[in-house]
Amino acid sequence: ISATADSVFGALSNASPWIVLIILLTLLVAAVLAGWLTGLFLKPIEALDLHDPMKGEAYDELSPLLHRMDKQNHKIQAQMDELQRRQAEFDDITARMDEGLVLFSGKGMILFANHAARALFPHDSAERSYLTLCRDANYIQVVEQALDGKGAHGKLERNGRIYELTASSVEENSAWHAAVLLIVDITERERAEQQRQEFTANVSHELKTPLTSIMGYAEIIAGGIAKPEDVAPFAGKIRTEAQRLLALIEDIIHLSRLDEGGETVAFEPVELSALCDTVRDRLQSKAAGKGIALHIEGEPAAVSGQRRTLEQMIFNLTDNAINYNKPQGSVTLVTGTENGRPFVQVADTGIGIAPADQQRVFERFYRVDKSHSKMTGGTGLGLSIVKHGAALHHAEVELKSVLGEGTCITLRFPKE
Ligand code: ADP
Repeated sequence: ISATADSVFGALSNASPWIVLIILLTLLVAAVLAGWLTGLFLKPIEALDLHDPMKGEAYDELSPLLHRMDKQNHKIQAQMDELQRRQAEFDDITARMDEGLVLFSGKGMILFANHAARALFPHDSAERSYLTLCRDANYIQVVEQALDGKGAHGKLERNGRIYELTASSVEENSAWHAAVLLIVDITERERAEQQRQEFTANVSHELKTPLTSIMGYAEIIAGGIAKPEDVAPFAGKIRTEAQRLLALIEDIIHLSRLDEGGETVAFEPVELSALCDTVRDRLQSKAAGKGIALHIEGEPAAVSGQRRTLEQMIFNLTDNAINYNKPQGSVTLVTGTENGRPFVQVADTGIGIAPADQQRVFERFYRVDKSHSKMTGGTGLGLSIVKHGAALHHAEVELKSVLGEGTCITLRFPKE
């Protein structure tokens, strides 16, 4: 009984081709399976819609991840909506602002300029340096100071208007600065301030002139220097000057009332032709003394307004028409309604006003001929009161005048 017994190594070497074959087959099957499974896993991921991850099919293991992505998406969307809402709110507010608003980055680049700022400093929307906006030295200084971390103020004159510049710095990380520039139109405020200063200077001057002559005459009389027959004329001059002072003070009070508290007096129905009658009664003897005829024409016209102010306005116009008239001239007051708008017109056959003076006569203390105005007791405020009174009543003042022929001033009131 005998058998051939191979050694272990012999058996192994005999079986090795099979073993290699089996290993290769196993590897092949594993590779195919791995490819198939990976494809299975990747398919829903590749088809994933990042904006809506819950759409489409997914296997159970992927669902928690998709849920979290979906939640994250909603959160981001809500934050984006909030940001857009705030941006729209900011744009809306800044676009409606009358003030100009400009934001600069720390390096001085323009990040944002609202509508008002763009209208003032036209520039394209590309990011540009603050220097491209305006070359005014004040502007540059204000912005540079703000970029340096110091708030600054300044004034800028542009297109005939005056602007106040206020720049503040925005600090971040203690080194980085941005700046916010606010541009406010202060033209009216500046003009009002200038007018106030001029008015104060003029008033002091106008008050001083009659007072100086009153003092002069009074001193001569008091010192006994005046001859007895001169005392009466001197006293007459003192009276005239005192009357001028009184008229001036009354006009100043009228003007300041119109300036400040004009609106506090209630409006009432006022008949313009009745006011013209009153004014004629007050000025009839003055006109007659100068040989000037006073006429009243037209139809009744009612407006809503302040009776005293309206009477003062018509009085001033008629008084001027008498003062700046020619001997044997005439003054005509006309009232009526034109296109539904009540009007009152004062026309004279006087010396007229040259075109260059026609707008200026409404300024305070402006007189075409200073000595003529003084001679007639004028204060230089009459037409200024008319202008302010007209503004209070939303009326238009129209002046037509031909030098040497006469003047016609019309007040047109709004429709009732
Ligand atoms: P005044 O008190 O000097 O009359 P006003 O303000 O009433 O001041 O008028 C200003 C100036 O306008 C007058 O000084 C005068 O030179 C001129 N003026 C006003 N009304 C007339 C007019 N009807 N005809 C000619 N000049 C006039």
